[in-house]
Amino acid sequence: MLIAVGLAAVKAASQSATASVVAIDVESDPVRSGLAASLETPDRLGFPEAKTIVHCMRTNANVELDAGTKTFASGLLPDLLAALRRSRKGDLVAVISSDPGIGPELEAWCRFTRNSLVDTAVDEGRTRWVLRYGEAPANVGEDRPVGSRLWLYTNFDCNLSCDYCCVRSSPKAPRRALGIERVRRIAIEAAELGVSEIFITGGEPFMLPDISEILAACAAAAPITVLTNGMLFARSRLATLRSLPRERVTLQISLDSPTPERHDGHRGKGTWARAWRGIELAWAEGFRVRLAATVSTDAEAEEFRSFLEAHHVSEENRVIRRIALRGSATQGVALARADLVPEVTITAEGVFWHPVGAEDNDLLVSREIFPLAESFAAVRRAFDHESEHQRRLATIFNCA
Ligand code: SF4
Repeated sequence: MLIAVGLAAVKAASQSATASVVAIDVESDPVRSGLAASLETPDRLGFPEAKTIVHCMRTNANVELDAGTKTFASGLLPDLLAALRRSRKGDLVAVISSDPGIGPELEAWCRFTRNSLVDTAVDEGRTRWVLRYGEAPANVGEDRPVGSRLWLYTNFDCNLSCDYCCVRSSPKAPRRALGIERVRRIAIEAAELGVSEIFITGGEPFMLPDISEILAACAAAAPITVLTNGMLFARSRLATLRSLPRERVTLQISLDSPTPERHDGHRGKGTWARAWRGIELAWAEGFRVRLAATVSTDAEAEEFRSFLEAHHVSEENRVIRRIALRGSATQGVALARADLVPEVTITAEGVFWHPVGAEDNDLLVSREIFPLAESFAAVRRAFDHESEHQRRLATIFNCA
């Protein structure tokens, strides 16, 4: 909700917030600092063979507002309101200033106006606060226990270079393979931990020469879903596909639109037709196929739903999601860590909070994968800290 709050109110809130400062001051809050500790001590073990590429991007925002020398006492509030008026509900707005004193006032203002402060980062002496216009959306999958699903990024290279790829994959991206040895150990430990489903993604997993062994190892541990663009099912890769146990393997194949134009616009000329051939082949080979569309608007989602209805694709075999403003995307839904219920995600660089943005520093939990139980515990601890912080914020303004 966008409500203009006068400076006096903001000041008052700021003062009352100061009295409760442990709950809202990121620097001094034990909850937040505990979270920071769990996210910022990722060096339990290095990966000497892996080329570490972790993008130090902070949370992408739809609008960047450089406060310059302004504070709430000297003209920041009108600028902030103007920025929100240019935004849509759910957008992220970043406020950047070299005056860290803005933070408590901004947080108080967010609480009064029912916007949400979702991220704070300091870079070269300037603080960047990211707030969401409006309240955080309800999280899908909130009740799923952390660690029940496990994501593996087997590699980052891809035969395509989609313009919205959330991890910047392309034919030129370094492979950064997880490797069969680590995958085998992950699979064994995941089974011991009771992981109920493993998602295998990249990059394009079928680019890997040892994908057959990787998928077999994972499928022995739990049912698996392989995310693929469906374009490489020929020759040895087709043989790999045919060798997979149908009862343990789901193929999630990307198709963004009912007709080629929009899909090809994002992914390259001719890709829709090749993906559709892959889907038909996978159906013919007896696989469960989940069709996954990445869309920009509700209208695009609705159009794709009609297409799926026409092809008798059931609800459980559909994924329709918005473009995330991560990786290569220049437009889309900006997502902060606080917006995402964690899904343990492992790449060659370590353990991440969620597969969307699994190479971004703000989502890195630990550089060490093993023992897997400890990685899961680290993600759970971080989530508990985050949830506790949210609960405490909620109780500060429990007015009745
Ligand atoms: S979105 Fe998928 S198919 Fe496209 S570049 Fe990224 S990994 Fe490859």
